Amino acid sequence: MLHHKDITGLEIEEKLIIAAKQHPNIEILENHLAIEIITQHHLGIEVSRRTPDITCYGAYVYNPNTNKVQTILSRITMMCTGGIGTVYGNTTNPTIATGDGIAMVYRAKGAVNGMEFVQFHPTSLYNPKESPSFLITEALRGAGAILKDENGVEFMSKYDKRGSLAPRDIVARAIDNEMKQKGCDHVYLDATHISKTEIFNHFPNIYAKCLSIGVDITKDMIPVVPAAHYSCGGIKVDEWGESSIINLFSSGECASTGLHGANRLASNSLLEALVFSHRACLKAVERFKDIDFCDDVPEWNTEGTVLNEEMVLITQSRKELQTIMCNYVGIVRSNVRLQRAFDRLEILYRETEDLYKKSILIPEICELRNMINIGYLIIKHAMNRHESRGLHYSLDYQGHRDESQSTHDLL
Ligand SMILES: Cc1cc2nc3c(=O)[nH]c(=O)nc-3n(C[C@H](O)[C@H](O)[C@H](O)COP(=O)(O)OP(=O)(O)OC[C@H]3O[C@@H](n4cnc5c(N)ncnc54)[C@H](O)[C@@H]3O)c2cc1C
Repeated sequence: MLHHKDITGLEIEEKLIIAAKQHPNIEILENHLAIEIITQHHLGIEVSRRTPDITCYGAYVYNPNTNKVQTILSRITMMCTGGIGTVYGNTTNPTIATGDGIAMVYRAKGAVNGMEFVQFHPTSLYNPKESPSFLITEALRGAGAILKDENGVEFMSKYDKRGSLAPRDIVARAIDNEMKQKGCDHVYLDATHISKTEIFNHFPNIYAKCLSIGVDITKDMIPVVPAAHYSCGGIKVDEWGESSIINLFSSGECASTGLHGANRLASNSLLEALVFSHRACLKAVERFKDIDFCDDVPEWNTEGTVLNEEMVLITQSRKELQTIMCNYVGIVRSNVRLQRAFDRLEILYRETEDLYKKSILIPEICELRNMINIGYLIIKHAMNRHESRGLHYSLDYQGHRDESQSTHDLL
């Protein structure tokens, strides 16, 4: 773990951006959107999930300045597109977290693993108008804040002897249960007994944010709700960040390194984001001199596509997907809920693929398509896991199975 005040991520990101911009060999294409990775499939060679030597030759990338898709060839490609939280209506993740890289690799027939293990942060600020949801850090519970229902009654001790300080998955499930039993949209976090000095010194951002929506946390309980926060699964990689597709590496939240198992501990995304990026870089440097560019890759084919003039077809499907995922594939799952989600998603999938094939490409349709692929993977992996383990909790299979499963093999 590394920490810099309460802005660790920002600090790391800013330093990396400065270093990358100063490097003479690095060209940054801002706001470009990777659409597909290029493999032998694009050379007209049939590729299936059983093909042993699927090879990545680069990526097709949407250029927002020309509104065209350009072909970027590479010897080594690194997938690091972040999380998937946006497939859920309520998430702490930035809006870019649409699972693009995972969806691209899955479509290219690469191995994707552990998608059923989605971590929900128990306490995001309940403010339905705002997306992403603002995170109320665990540190506030560490400082003594207590989860309560709308009558001000503490409820966590019913679920776990550690009360409000139980692990994330237990707290998130307990809140989900309270909300379902009482039919309410949120619960409360009570920090009113913590001294003002401690609040102002240690939680100035939370204080200011809550005040901006009319909640003075030194006097009022904070309305909170669980929100999708981290994907433990993703593109299956080895200990060097290398995926099942030759010359394709992955790191960060979109990679499945196995480090988080079925239930990630807080504060350790740097393992996947920094340690694995470094290891992948070492391996790529060692490897890339022996790799040739593939020169006969065709340009992106736009034949027969027209401008989609009805954005509602995309925006409505996106909302539907988020509602389905929240209601049926959230913190607590069951066979019936998963099957229902699967059936609904199939309709969205067919409609979106149809629209995608006909439309001139825009980022919104690409992201929707990726989000539907991610929803499908989460549901499918959840259906294949006949047990409750870590972040995957099923009403139909309580408890662990003895042997660990590989959901990838079941696909
Ligand atoms: C509110 C919040 C608090 C957190 N707090 C902590 C913490 O305290 N400690 C901790 O360890 N972790 C924390 N995490 C988790 C951690 O921040 C993330 O896991 C981590 O930032 C992910 O890094 P990444 O590089 O994989 O992805 P990101 O930082 O999300 O970067 C992905 C990049 O890929 C780009 N991209 C996406 N799709 C495409 C595409 N198709 N084409 C081109 N580019 C694309 C995006 O624009 C973005 O620049 C927190 C997360 C959240 C949301």
